Amino acid sequence: MASADPLGRYRDKRDFARTPEPAGAGGGETATRRFVVQRHRARRLHYDFRLEVGGVLASWAVPKGPTLDPKVRRAAYHVEDHPLDYAGFEGVIPGGQYGSGDVIVWDNGTWQPASAADPDASLAAGELHFDLFGAKLRGRFVLVRTRVDARGKEEWLLLHKRDQFAVSGWDPEEHPRSVLSDRTNDEVQADPDRAS
Ligand code: MN
Repeated sequence: MASADPLGRYRDKRDFARTPEPAGAGGGETATRRFVVQRHRARRLHYDFRLEVGGVLASWAVPKGPTLDPKVRRAAYHVEDHPLDYAGFEGVIPGGQYGSGDVIVWDNGTWQPASAADPDASLAAGELHFDLFGAKLRGRFVLVRTRVDARGKEEWLLLHKRDQFAVSGWDPEEHPRSVLSDRTNDEVQADPDRAS
């Protein structure tokens, strides 16, 4: 549902006096569409998959992480839009705060929709085909909505098509370092304030 502030849900969940995450200046489309994937060791490990759409980062939590293996479909849970400046966030969310745990920028780059259709409309319709140009993730991916529960929580699938970038058996856990700082989650946890 559209709301006056697209980041209202994001801000409502967080106390910016206590978490180092950005509050988000809000707005501001950029010419190139960015994507970021963050490896987030919260109560449960997951990867946060985010695509720049309409001035925010449309976001999904992917428990097992994205893969280049075209035989694998990953469950992806749609979560609240995040501000664009979240794409650079790497650090530790303190205990007691929403999503407390350590976060690295696991991959980033740019993306393009595979068709001329407006990606906002494609996402609203529940299916988006797109290409990623990242350090780890490359090639054609698909996000497709499979289920909406009674509370409106959306389950999606994330998959990689068979193309020249597909790699059978590719496991994100075998590529554990940040593309920003070359650190692992353990290294960020141990020294969260180190300049990367
Ligand atoms: Mn997360």
